[in-house]
Amino acid sequence: MVHMSVVVPCYDESEVIDAFHAALIAALEPAGVTFEVCYVDDGSGDRTLDRLRALAAADRRVRYTSFSRNFGKESALLAGMRMSRGSVVALMDADLQHPPGLLPRMLELHRHGYDQVVAQRDRTGEGAVRTALSRVYYRLVRRFMDVEIIDGAGDFRLLSRRAVDSLLSLPESNRFSKGLFSWIGFDTVSFRYENVERAAGRSKWGGRRLLNYGIDGLLSFNSRPLRLAIHTGLWLFLSALVYALWIIANALLDGVDTPGYATLITAIVGLSGIQLATLGVIGEYVGRIYHEAKRRPHYVVRETERSAAVRRPPDGDAPLEAAGRTRPKP
Ligand code: UDP
Ligand code: MG
Repeated sequence: MVHMSVVVPCYDESEVIDAFHAALIAALEPAGVTFEVCYVDDGSGDRTLDRLRALAAADRRVRYTSFSRNFGKESALLAGMRMSRGSVVALMDADLQHPPGLLPRMLELHRHGYDQVVAQRDRTGEGAVRTALSRVYYRLVRRFMDVEIIDGAGDFRLLSRRAVDSLLSLPESNRFSKGLFSWIGFDTVSFRYENVERAAGRSKWGGRRLLNYGIDGLLSFNSRPLRLAIHTGLWLFLSALVYALWIIANALLDGVDTPGYATLITAIVGLSGIQLATLGVIGEYVGRIYHEAKRRPHYVVRETERSAAVRRPPDGDAPLEAAGRTRPKP
C-alpha cells in the first residue's frame, strides 16, 4: 500500500485546524492508503501549537514541527518535506482552500505515473483588481523567467518521493517554491478546481506581502533583469553616440552655438534614472548573494511531537520543567 505524507504549513490557523484535520481524515481513510500528517507551525501567535499538540496526542499519524518564530510559508513547506517519510507527499494549506476531497483523485493520477500532480485553482470569488493584477504579473513572469509558472498552480500538489528528494537537494536559502517545482521537472499533470473561500481565520497575504513575493519570484530565478539592464545601457549608448556624431557634424558645418541646456538636462535626468534603477537591480542581486553566503538555516525549531513526548510523561500530565527531573511528591 502507498504510504502518504500530507504536509500542512500553519500560521495562526487555530480557528480552522480542527475542521481541516477532520476533513483530511475523512478524505484519506477511505482512499486506500496509509498516511501521516506533517503539520508545521510557522511561529503562530495564537493557540495553533496547542491544537497540534492535542491532535498529535490523540492520533499517532499526526506529527508536527513548531518554529521558534514566523519564518514564512516557504520555510514551513521545506520543514514539512524534510519531516515527511511517505512515498508520496501532498502539500496543502490549512484553511480548507485546498479541498482534501481532491486527494483521492490526485493519488489516482499519481498511480498513472505522474511525479507531480497539481490541483490548479481558478479565480472564482476573487476581487476583480486582484485577478487583473495577477494576470499582468503572470504575463510579466512568463516573459522574464527561465522557468514556466502557471497562473493558479500554487502549492496544492502531490509529489513523488524522488520529486521531493530533488526539491530537498536544492540548497538555496531564498526559496521561491513555485519556481523550484517547475525547475525540477519530471512528468507533471494538472487539473482545475473551483476556488474556495478560506473557511475561517484570515489570509496572511496582504498587498505588500504579495508584491514582495512577486519581486522575489522574478529575481530569485534568473539573471534576466540584469541582462535587461545591460541591453538598455547598450541601446542608450548607441543612441548617445549617434546624437554626439550629429552634434559634431552640426558644429563643423554651422559653427558652435551654445543653447542645448534642455537637451543636457533631459539626458542627465534620463540617464541617471536608468543608472539608479540598474544599480537597484544589481544591489538586489548582491543582497541575495550576501544572504546565500551566510548559509543560515532556513528555520529554527522550537518543538516537535517527539521532543514534546520526552518532556511530557506518557499519561498526559502537565509537562515537567526539564527532561529527566522527577516530579515532587504531593
Ligand atoms: N502560512 C504560513 N506562514 C506564513 C503565511 C502563511 O505557514 O507566514 C500558511 C497558512 O497557515 C496557510 C497557507 O500558508 O496554511 C496559505 O496562507 P493563506 O491562506 O494566508 O494565503 P492565501 O490562501 O490567502 O494565499
Ligand atoms: Mg488561504
